[in-house]
Parts: sequence; structure tokens; C-alpha cells
Amino acid sequence: MSDSIFSKIIRGEIPCHRVYQDESVLAFLDINPLSRGHVLVVPKEPAATMADLSDPAAAGLGKALPRICRAVVKATGAASYNLLQNNGADAGQEVMHVHVHVIPRYPEDDTGLRVSWKPRAFDHDAGAELARKIARLL
Ligand code: AMP
Repeated sequence: MSDSIFSKIIRGEIPCHRVYQDESVLAFLDINPLSRGHVLVVPKEPAATMADLSDPAAAGLGKALPRICRAVVKATGAASYNLLQNNGADAGQEVMHVHVHVIPRYPEDDTGLRVSWKPRAFDHDAGAELARKIARLL
């Protein structure tokens, strides 16, 4: 994959406000925060999307995330937060290097972030076939 701005940050070529680092993860403040304490958690492996991430890098990401969430909650006082993870242009991903947004939420602070579902009717026959197809690939 091409070199993203996050690879440059990981290599220290571009500065960031770092909050955490270990052998597989770097976390830093988002430069265009939706709220105070908006953090990006970035695997050091240069995978574009979650589906491209290796098992060891995914394990490192999963291990770091709850710790970082706890620290963000304690530092900001936010009682709530969203984890947002975009994969691909249609999903709103702008930086093609896997990252998880940790977005603290405060009462009365309108981030503009809405979880707005438009659920459809469920087709059990098609659903069963699709579930089998996905399961076969795992
Ligand atoms: P996404 O739409 O999920 O790809 O989000 C990319 C995020 O990266 C955006 O929220 C940007 O504000 C953030 N971002 C881009 N460049 C930087 C940077 N140099 N330092 C910190 N955050 C950045």
C-alpha cells in the first residue's frame, strides 16, 4: 500500500500529540477533533483496512484499545464515548491506514456524530445462505 500520513507520524517524520505507544500501536490526538480528547489508535503495521490487518497486529490493537479508552475517560471526565472505525472510501475513510477513533461524548456538546440506522426487513432464507457463505470463509 502507499505511504500514508499515519506511517509518517509513526516514523516520527511528522509530529503528533502522542498519548500511547507500544511495539504495535501508536495513539495520538486527532488534529480535527469532533470533541475534546478525540484520539486515534493506529496499528503500526501499514494495513489500509481492518480486513488487511495481520492477526498479531490485530491482537496488539485489541489489547491497547480498552486501556486507552479508560485513560481518555479518566482524563476528560466524559461519561460516554464512541469508537468509530471507517474502512474504505464508501465508509468515509480518508486516511488509508487502519485506525480507530475514540470520541469522548459530553452532554450538550453537539459533535454532529449521529448513529442513524435504517433497518430493513430480514429475509431468513437469504440471511441463512449469507451466514453460511461468510462462515465458510472464516
Ligand atoms: P478517517 O475519515 O476515519 O480516515 O479519519 C482520518 C482522521 O485522521 C481525521 O479525523 C483527521 O482529522 C485525522 N488526521 C489526519 N491527519 C492528521 C494528523 N496529521 N494528525 C492527527 N490527525 C490527523
